[in-house]
Amino acid sequence: MTGQKREDLSVLKPEFGRETSGESMDDQCREVRPADPCAIVIIGASGDLTSRKLIPALYRLFLNGYMPVSFAIVGCARKKLDNEAFRQLVKESLAKGVGDDLSKLDHFAGNLYYRTVEYDDKENFKELSCFLSDIDKKHGTAGNRLFYLAIPPFLYETVVHVMGEAGLSRESRTSGSWSRLVVEKPFGSDLKTAVKLNDVIKRCFSEQQVYRIDHYLAKETVQNILVFRFANSIFEPLWNRQHIEHVEISAAETLGVEHRAGYYEKSGILRDMFQNHMMQLLTLVAMEPPAHFRPEPVRDEKAKVIQSIRPFDLEHLEENIVIGQYLSGNIDGKKVPAYRDETGVDPLSLTPTFAMMKVFIDNWRWQDVPFYLSSGKRLAEKKTKIVIQFKDVPHSIFRDIIGGSISANCLTFFIQPIEKIALTFQAKKPGSTICPRSINMEFSYDSDSGETLEAYEKVLVDCMNGDQMLFLRQDLEELCWSFLTPLIEDCEKCVDKSSLLQFYGSGTRGPEGVEKLKT
Ligand code: NDP
Repeated sequence: MTGQKREDLSVLKPEFGRETSGESMDDQCREVRPADPCAIVIIGASGDLTSRKLIPALYRLFLNGYMPVSFAIVGCARKKLDNEAFRQLVKESLAKGVGDDLSKLDHFAGNLYYRTVEYDDKENFKELSCFLSDIDKKHGTAGNRLFYLAIPPFLYETVVHVMGEAGLSRESRTSGSWSRLVVEKPFGSDLKTAVKLNDVIKRCFSEQQVYRIDHYLAKETVQNILVFRFANSIFEPLWNRQHIEHVEISAAETLGVEHRAGYYEKSGILRDMFQNHMMQLLTLVAMEPPAHFRPEPVRDEKAKVIQSIRPFDLEHLEENIVIGQYLSGNIDGKKVPAYRDETGVDPLSLTPTFAMMKVFIDNWRWQDVPFYLSSGKRLAEKKTKIVIQFKDVPHSIFRDIIGGSISANCLTFFIQPIEKIALTFQAKKPGSTICPRSINMEFSYDSDSGETLEAYEKVLVDCMNGDQMLFLRQDLEELCWSFLTPLIEDCEKCVDKSSLLQFYGSGTRGPEGVEKLKT
């Protein structure tokens, strides 16, 4: 810290490659595992997710050498297109993106194909199966298939069912060929629908074949939480109720409902953000160390966290949750409409666009430590972060010098838009007197020389490699729903006890009730 002039910002530059053994840790980690040859089949390839996320991610993986040597991408949807028209669409949408090297676009496009399908037509999917066999011969994709459901959720069951009937879920023990299914969020709309969808999937695919996505988990800072906790010996002894005052997990957006009113009116913030992203972040912060860093032990520990969440007292929901809906206001100097005035929204809608909940985890580590989970639309700034607030020093020997109490230590994982970790602690202000002040020590992913993968790139690489670590297992998906479903149902039933739904101005920090929840 010597020579630091700035009052409150001391940037700790990471020194990579200084290892104690002869071999650097970077070298030990360089386990390059080219994915198996495979055909990636995108069902719903004429849609928004495919053009905005999946194709750009696949192209960047191709540019950076992460794609298998032999691969093909087969787009499927009802829209009538041929291979050439699909390739042209893909090229145009990639050319619009910023910053990507387009020199290999033609090479990439040569691996693209398109099939028109009706989603409930078994014959269409049988033809797809024959087509994929031809692709195996032409591209050497070895019978391996990754099916990505990029269709509206109400079609998941239909498509999985016809895929099963058409034999597309079959794997071969003799050749070792695999078939994997990627299911986008939302996975069901409550416990009952999630269980039903899992039942349909189970009839055709085994759990090892299923990849339920939460792309938040693939962000660098999110993945880093477990490394931070379990690869350092200095933090874990403090990671408990003895030292931590509370934990805040917040995901704030400035955007409103945009063009998704149809979906959002039915979903609301609890289904859209809490069932998946917020609960998953909670598990990473609160879980016990798994025996190994492998998918099953990690997912076992995550499941235990959700099982330990104290159920809410539905008679006194207001003690644990605040829900809100945005009114008009100003964001970045622009006037924005109220939720009820957005296109496609019911003018009397009671759909929540904000929620904050106080959650307790009933186990030895976390008893009585509040976890504040909050997420909302049209808030003052776009920021997702996890704050670990440590307890105050038990007794301040500096009380005669600085009067009030000393700020407690705080560790923050910034997840988006900036990816960094910051730790605040007290240090002496330079000068003749002893005067403590808060110092901020930061590690930013921008300053790391390593290559980072965007969330969808990481998700796709893991699916091709058969690594299920970042994907939700059936039990975890259902446990999250079983905690939230009674709460959602009760909120939906009793919003006309309108004390529960509070309105907040766009561009603010949310409803006033959030401060009360924290007391
Ligand atoms: P779209 O609404 O763009 O639909 C994808 C394709 O599905 C369409 O191109 C259309 O293809 C077909 N389709 C749409 N509506 C119907 C319908 N009523 N009946 C039959 N077919 C229909 O979806 P997205 O691409 O936005 O999303 C796909 C999945 O990914 C969804 O489950 C969504 O929740 C999830 N997701 C999307 C994100 C995004 O950023 N878009 C982010 C996270 C998750 P055609 O008519 O040619 O058959």
